[in-house]
Amino acid sequence: MYRIQQIKMAINHTEEEFRKEIASELKISEDKIDSLIQNLINFYLPITGTQSWKYAQVTGGGVTVEEVNPETMESKIVPHLYFAGEILDVDGDCGGYNLQWAWSSGYLAGKSAADRWQGWCPSPSAIPC
Ligand SMILES: Cc1cc2nc3c(=O)[nH]c(=O)nc-3n(C[C@H](O)[C@H](O)[C@H](O)COP(=O)(O)OP(=O)(O)OC[C@H]3O[C@@H](n4cnc5c(N)ncnc54)[C@H](O)[C@@H]3O)c2cc1C
Repeated sequence: MYRIQQIKMAINHTEEEFRKEIASELKISEDKIDSLIQNLINFYLPITGTQSWKYAQVTGGGVTVEEVNPETMESKIVPHLYFAGEILDVDGDCGGYNLQWAWSSGYLAGKSAADRWQGWCPSPSAIPC
């Protein structure tokens, strides 16, 4: 609720009015606003390392995308072999991109494999196709 009010205020107010309002909300003098903004901009969090494999959320490496047909996810090296998701050398930032990649490539790989084999039956007398 507070954030929505702040956004509305930012849209409807001039910069001067906005500064006054922020200073009032934060109970600081207006001349402190600029240094507050600079401090926030310059706030620096150095990355000092990574956590162990136990905490890994996505992996780099795997089957290179150059060896896969992007329209079907079929291997260019081994016909009739389809790849999807984490097995491929694709990794995204955190934020759902890896799951989306797994679902989208999985859908495409599955559909392509089904389309290819539609109507094919190893032993028509034994299995109803
Ligand atoms: C802790 C954690 C948090 C994550 N958070 C996010 C996130 O917030 N957002 C995001 O986008 N991504 C996230 N990811 C990444 C995302 O979950 C993966 O990229 C995605 O699940 C990959 O899907 P996949 O189907 O390719 O592989 P997987 O989900 O790994 O599925 C592979 C399946 O194959 C099975 N399997 C393995 N070997 C064999 C075998 N020999 N025979 C039969 N089955 C086998 C496994 O048991 C598994 O069920 C996270 C991953 C982890 C580990």
